[in-house]
Amino acid sequence: MQNIYDLVVIGGGISSSAFISNILKQGFKGTIAVIEAGRGLGGRCSTRYPNEDRKLALNHGCPIINVENSLKNSLLDNFIKELLDKNFIRSLDNSFFNLDENYKFSNVNDNYFYSGDVYTSTSNMSKLVENLFNLYNAENKIDFYFQTLIIKLNFKSELWNITSNKNKEFTGRFLVCSSNLLLHKRSIDILNVKEVPLREAIAKKNDIKIDEVIDKTNKQEYIKRINFLIFTKKNYNLEGIFNKEIVHFIFHKNLQKYIGFERIIIQKQFDKSLGIVIHTRNIDFLQNKYDMEDERILYQYVLNKLNSFLIKNKITFKNLLLSDISRMNWRASQPIGEGIPERLQLCKEYNIGFCGDWIQLEGYGSAAGAVLSGLNLSNKFIEYY
Ligand SMILES: Cc1cc2nc3c(=O)[nH]c(=O)nc-3n(C[C@H](O)[C@H](O)[C@H](O)COP(=O)(O)OP(=O)(O)OC[C@H]3O[C@@H](n4cnc5c(N)ncnc54)[C@H](O)[C@@H]3O)c2cc1C
Repeated sequence: MQNIYDLVVIGGGISSSAFISNILKQGFKGTIAVIEAGRGLGGRCSTRYPNEDRKLALNHGCPIINVENSLKNSLLDNFIKELLDKNFIRSLDNSFFNLDENYKFSNVNDNYFYSGDVYTSTSNMSKLVENLFNLYNAENKIDFYFQTLIIKLNFKSELWNITSNKNKEFTGRFLVCSSNLLLHKRSIDILNVKEVPLREAIAKKNDIKIDEVIDKTNKQEYIKRINFLIFTKKNYNLEGIFNKEIVHFIFHKNLQKYIGFERIIIQKQFDKSLGIVIHTRNIDFLQNKYDMEDERILYQYVLNKLNSFLIKNKITFKNLLLSDISRMNWRASQPIGEGIPERLQLCKEYNIGFCGDWIQLEGYGSAAGAVLSGLNLSNKFIEYY
């Protein structure tokens, strides 16, 4: 007989790490499985380790957490205080620079991701998520399954049966979906299935709450982003006020139209090389200019633009030489449109819960919103369980 988990969580991102850490803190004693399609933890808050020997690390998705109205939300605020106390995160002071539409550095900060208090991990973002999962996991209650993509859900006799694309099966009493993929019509293409998995598990008109979650989720759309990941050769110094461990350059949205870059984030590496992530949101700009399949030309364009930006602004004095460049296509980097109301996060009739940055809470569409959704669900879950 297959092992029955008390709780199965699909997704190993920051929302599920906050959810699990908080239920364990509040004394949840059941068994837990975390199932993740990727190779490690982090989801969109993850880190690329290109070469284990050189110990290089680059936060290639979300690099920071920002909390806009800390006083308004004690749940999130207390959690952030705990992470600061545990030295998992630190404030990101004076390390970000805005470029206004005239290409000048300015202090005006109207960027959604940088308003309020801004924090980053003391190690890297994947490690932060890993630390959160393990914060109260002293008894090793969590079984992690990586490279396991769930494509099918079934609810029968009060149990969830969960099947991966390689036919691995899991059974759980309670299911948490930390991504909305299994509820959203895009799953049909991505997972190569005939019907949206949650819809297949719970047919229409069985439960008003589930119908509303699926209906509202399918009205959400996503911002696509392409990020370029660059590692330089060794021995580069950043100049003057830019000489910091991590530096963020944030381009005004009007400027993004010309340069194609949304942000440049430079992360110094232990061996005096630089790790650089260029975030691009204006995909049309790149697509119109370049054959996206011809990576050589695309990468050369990115490198030239980067070098001319850094040198023109006296951030470095010499052209950067690459040791490696790659790209990451984020087809669903951030939800847009109305989020899912938090009253729909837990459905007792079907023993299922939802968390993630797609829930309409403070910080919707950001790491802080994802964390808050996990904490919010954990309180509802503990009360119910
Ligand atoms: C390029 C980029 C830049 C960003 N910048 C910022 C920023 O500066 N500040 C900020 O606050 N936020 C930023 N964000 C948004 C932030 O990353 C997200 O809001 C946050 O990470 C969402 O966390 P989550 O746990 O809700 O979802 P996710 O991190 O997406 O976690 C869900 C996990 O579920 C897994 N999964 C999904 N479906 C399945 C399945 N069927 N089977 C198995 N596993 C599955 C996924 O692989 C994923 O790991 C950025 C995002 C991107 C992509």
